[in-house]
Amino acid sequence: MSANPLHEAEERNELEFGSFLVVDCPTCKRAVLTARDLDADGEFIDICLHCEHVLLADAPSARWMDARTVLELGYFVDGVEEDEGCGSEEGGCKGGTCGVRQPR
Ligand SMILES: [Zn+2]
Repeated sequence: MSANPLHEAEERNELEFGSFLVVDCPTCKRAVLTARDLDADGEFIDICLHCEHVLLADAPSARWMDARTVLELGYFVDGVEEDEGCGSEEGGCKGGTCGVRQPR
């Protein structure tokens, strides 16, 4: 029953870059990204990133989205654009927005 650190790292990586919990927030009246918080009992809860309304990960509106889908909701996801851009910060391209992959 020993934990596998490599597997845990992979899981964390997937959670960090692969999927984001998006729930319809009744206060913001839109789909929002959730943040992790602790309730009074020290249990993890998911809250609205904007108004801190407590959201349920098993709510009917809850769904996991990948980073690119989250971008379409108007969020900025750190590190995602680098995949799609040219990957060159020194090639005169600002943030990979040119869409041209530079030869190395
Ligand atoms: Zn909200």
